[in-house]
Amino acid sequence: MSLSIMDRLRAGTVLGAEGYVFELERRGYIKAGPFVPEVVLDFPDAVRELHREFLRAGADVMVALTYYAHREKLRDVGREDDLEAMNRQAVRIAREVAREGDALVAGNVCNTWAYDPDDPATKQTVRDMYAEQLGWAAEEGIDFVISETNDYLGEALIALEVIRELGLPAMVTLAPTQPDQTRDGYRYAEACQILAAEGAQVVGLNCDRGPQTMLPLITDIREAVDCAVAVQPVPYRTDAAAPTMETLRSPDGERAFPIALDPFGCTRFEMAHFAQQARELGADYVGICCGAGPHHVRAMAEALGREVPASKYSPSMDLHPMFRTDVAAKDAAFLPSWSA
Ligand SMILES: [Zn+2]
Repeated sequence: MSLSIMDRLRAGTVLGAEGYVFELERRGYIKAGPFVPEVVLDFPDAVRELHREFLRAGADVMVALTYYAHREKLRDVGREDDLEAMNRQAVRIAREVAREGDALVAGNVCNTWAYDPDDPATKQTVRDMYAEQLGWAAEEGIDFVISETNDYLGEALIALEVIRELGLPAMVTLAPTQPDQTRDGYRYAEACQILAAEGAQVVGLNCDRGPQTMLPLITDIREAVDCAVAVQPVPYRTDAAAPTMETLRSPDGERAFPIALDPFGCTRFEMAHFAQQARELGADYVGICCGAGPHHVRAMAEALGREVPASKYSPSMDLHPMFRTDVAAKDAAFLPSWSA
């Protein structure tokens, strides 16, 4: 039998892989703007393939693509009637691919854009949205739930309550879009402490920040909680001047988020370095978010000391005609122009 998420976290680092929406948008299956995962119903093979690529790259968890598959978002694109089918199918696809390896299946909910801390009525709206999504996911069969990119601790706590009512382990990660606190005014470490006290098995941060600006916040969280800590940055080079991907600007001052971020992308080597740093800081669930490609995930897996199915095709630059130690005379003629 496959080990549970808690067993795996006790045994070592769990490797996560997300960023399905960005990657499927790049491949032409999701519309940037609304970012609703209509692909789950319209092109299920595309979703299946990306899960499989992440699985081969070493991901321990297949995250069902139900990000933004909630009532509020589906209404925006006129597909509210497809809500249940989309959520159920996403879990089925994730399960199907997880069984091809030894991965777990995570149900997924996210920020709703319906939550308003100053309007108590919105709490019930959000609760209903999470309850229907996760109710369907639980019926289809998931091992745990990832509630992610929550801007408000209040909204994350609603998700946690729903997950706990279903009797499932909960990983709750906040979106660190602000300098040091949630939009309802809790320092990230404090918010994680509250989530842990309320029963989340894994807490931490995901999305918005690249490795360089996310890791310092993870150090604070690690010190604040005893439970498992998750860190899933975006593979973009955020820094002190632009700490989030939303604040990155091109040289001519244009906002790069969300579809012109390519020049800021981290290499596989940078993400491999991040995975090692995260583990050294004591993170238990180390992953990657929007912008991820399977090459990042494989490099992270290998940096954590694993050999994964896709390692069969990991780079062998010693076999490259120009980078091998004994460059053949006929190939050496190319070197001057490669060095110019
Ligand atoms: Zn993300």
